[in-house]
Amino acid sequence: MKTETSGIEIQDLHLSFGDTRVLTGVNLTIEPGEFFGFLGPSGSGKSTLLRSIAGFGPRPSGSIKVGGSDVLSLPPWKRNVGMVFQSYALWPHMSVRDNVAFGLQERKVPAAQIKTRVNDALDLVGLSHLADRMPNQLSGGQQQRIALARTVVIEPQVLLLDEPLSNLDASLRVQMRRELLALQRKLGLTTIFVTHDQEEANSTCDRIAVLDKGVIQQVGRPQDLYDNPVNLFVARFLGTAN
Ligand code: ADP
Ligand code: MG
Repeated sequence: MKTETSGIEIQDLHLSFGDTRVLTGVNLTIEPGEFFGFLGPSGSGKSTLLRSIAGFGPRPSGSIKVGGSDVLSLPPWKRNVGMVFQSYALWPHMSVRDNVAFGLQERKVPAAQIKTRVNDALDLVGLSHLADRMPNQLSGGQQQRIALARTVVIEPQVLLLDEPLSNLDASLRVQMRRELLALQRKLGLTTIFVTHDQEEANSTCDRIAVLDKGVIQQVGRPQDLYDNPVNLFVARFLGTAN
């Protein structure tokens, strides 16, 4: 599997839904190969920021660059970005193999190449043996691995994960986050991992951006945020202050 990856630069991003300001002046640089976290409570704008990078939803003002190129005017499929959603939403009427192949067929990749790439992607998540199953014959964890395979198979330069583990039970969540990190390290792919769970962010991310009300409160390594929170919100959210 190809592993070209890109950094992300976000400058002065603003977005409102009607009168509600959802993103307010977001500035952020994510380095190539980083496992980066967006951490914040529900409604803080994490999904909206991620969707803006992927190209879903209304167009914000400001600038978003992936690999140095401005992507704001590009549709999602031209951004070299792959996204995994909280509800993994595999196509129920298609086999695992066909679910993973779907994005490649849409991109008119030749059939022989599709076969190899689908096999490689299924190998990567350790589920080649389930290629002919239907989604309803898989556990939640297996479905989420297939959703991941379906995304990495298109060889994105950036991987965006919106609370990908939150539908799984607690012990599986811990196992899956280890797998996710191992996969990310193996591919070396720039990854943004959205979560409202500070434990989950701390145990996986190289750096974290803490969001509140559509504003990035602080960016740093987990330990640095914990040791030196810039304000009471960050301190409370990370559990430094009571
Ligand atoms: P998070 O992912 O951190 O929980 P979201 O990005 O989903 O937060 O939402 C941030 C804010 O934007 C919330 O106040 C939410 O109600 C609002 N919002 C999100 N999507 C829409 C939408 N399509 N229309 C109107 N408001 C929205
Ligand atoms: Mg969200």
